[in-house]
Formats: sequence, C-alpha cells, structure tokens
Amino acid sequence: MIDSFKHKGLRKKLIEKLRGKGIEPKILDAFEKIPRHFFLDSTFDEIAYEDRAFAIGCGQTISQPYTVAFQTQLLEVKKGEKILEIGTGSGFQTCILCEMGAKVFTIERQKTLFEKTKSLIKLLGYTPKCFFGDGYAGLPAYGPFDKVIVTCGAPNIPMALVDQMKPGGKMVIPVGEDVQEMNVITKLDKENNISTEVQGSFKFVPMLEKKI
Ligand code: SAH
Repeated sequence: MIDSFKHKGLRKKLIEKLRGKGIEPKILDAFEKIPRHFFLDSTFDEIAYEDRAFAIGCGQTISQPYTVAFQTQLLEVKKGEKILEIGTGSGFQTCILCEMGAKVFTIERQKTLFEKTKSLIKLLGYTPKCFFGDGYAGLPAYGPFDKVIVTCGAPNIPMALVDQMKPGGKMVIPVGEDVQEMNVITKLDKENNISTEVQGSFKFVPMLEKKI
C-alpha cells in the first residue's frame, strides 16, 4: 500500500472541501492521517478522494467522506470515550474514531467483509475491538458506551443500543427506509428516556435484522 504525493494532494483537496462544509479541524486532522484509498480496491485509486460513496464488495459501500465527517462531528468524539459502531464496512469510519483517541468497538454482520476489514485495520496499526454479529443486539458485555454510531439505515431506533449507553450519552443513527433522517439521540436517564434531534437526509445501505 503506497500513499504517494498524488494521493496526499488529492486528500488535501478533499479536506479543504470538507472544511468548506463546516467540518471541524480535529476531524480533518484524522482524515489527513488515514489514506482513504487503502480502504478501496485499487481500481478506485484515481477517484478515491472524490466526495462519493463507493462499492466495497458484498453489496456494501464505503460511506461518502462528508457523511463520515458529519456523523463524527455530531458524535462529539472525545479522547478515551468508549464508542460502539454498528456496520464496520470498509473500516474507514472505525479508523477515524480510533485516530481521534476513542476506544472503539465495532460490529459487522457480513462475514467476508468482517474478515477482510479486520486484517486491514490491523495492518494499519489501529486496535479497535472487531466483532462479527448482529448490531441490533449491540455488545451488552462491553457496555455501557459513551457514544453509539450506526452507519447503516435503521428502520427504527434499536432500544437494546439505547440500553447499552451511559446516561448523558449520544447515538448518531440514520433512521428510515429508502432515505434516512440523521437522528442524534441523547439518553436522558437510566430509564432509557431519550431526546431526539434531526440533522438532514442521507442514503445508507439498510441495517439488516436477523440475517446471520
Ligand atoms: N462505516 C462504513 C459503512 C459501511 S456500510 C464505511 O464507511 O465503510 C454499512 C455496513 O453495515 C455494511 O457493511 C453492512 O454489512 C453493515 N450492516 C448492516 N446491517 C447490520 C447489522 N444488523 N449489524 C452489523 N452490521 C450491519
């Protein structure tokens, strides 16, 4: 895997675009350190730094850079926080969170993708805990989490995930069938009362239930 001057230059251009769209410097710093083209097949080498989602095999996609940046910003990531990610996919979002100093726990339900991404993340030197399984169940044995990020479109808010959050914790989750509204959920108390804020429309691959 080579990160050439050309890649670095294209990455800088993408970062400036994201800056123009209001993304914070600490998130842009993480984007600068993580070569997105490493997460894509080499045929995408020339276009890896366009602000677009791409196919990563197994019918799945790597999210658009702006979407990754925006979800990360809504999550208000702080060093040392325990973050649960649903939908490891390419692992790009996972590495961004690790680079920002979070302790990341990530779940993927697609076995081939899970194996491939786990090896790539290791090769890049990041150390999140990767799990093969159904994100709807979360990871009760590893919670409670400060934050939860869902990177697939959920038909509704999975209460098992709210249950695994600390009171005061946040979840960023796209909710909806064809098009999803980005929901920012705050857990208000131990009884799982929540407040919800909606932050624009996006398009994600679906969060699949009981398909393992
Ligand atoms: N953050 C990823 C997004 C990948 S797309 C990236 O930027 O690459 C969303 C991923 O969610 C897919 O890989 C899909 O297989 C996975 N997914 C869908 N339903 C899931 C579920 N119930 N549990 C865990 N992962 C799921």
